[in-house]
Amino acid sequence: MADAKTEPLLTPVVDDDGAPFWEYAARGELRIQACAKDACGELRWPPRPCCPHCQSFDTEWRRMTGKARIWSYAVPHPPLLPAYAALAPYNTALVELTDAPRIRLAGNVVAKAGAPPNSVPPDRLRIGARVQVVFADQAGFVVPQWVLERP
Ligand code: ZN
Repeated sequence: MADAKTEPLLTPVVDDDGAPFWEYAARGELRIQACAKDACGELRWPPRPCCPHCQSFDTEWRRMTGKARIWSYAVPHPPLLPAYAALAPYNTALVELTDAPRIRLAGNVVAKAGAPPNSVPPDRLRIGARVQVVFADQAGFVVPQWVLERP
């Protein structure tokens, strides 16, 4: 079995458009990019330079409550990357933000902030279950994770 300490977990690839997301996450804030044109204001994910609704390049980052529901989830099966094989079985989830139901973020449902992705048994997960964002430092990156409202 691989040693998770020597095999780093995957870290986000940050580009110019997405950089603010990670900067806000490092402060413990979940923010989603939005069109800053008054007549539009549409949220968009993933981050990109131009609004697909009105073609404006005006952008702001709107703070979310961090409440969401599990839209879907998976329990990956081998073969897995070595660092992840050591954690199996674990979950990966797509959560749908309560503030913006069309925005879905990928992540892990965990027992508490900073807990590993295998800290919640897969049989505790249900599509539609309410979750709340928490933030954890993973290999030098602060990433959003999700905890069940009713564990
Ligand atoms: Zn727009």
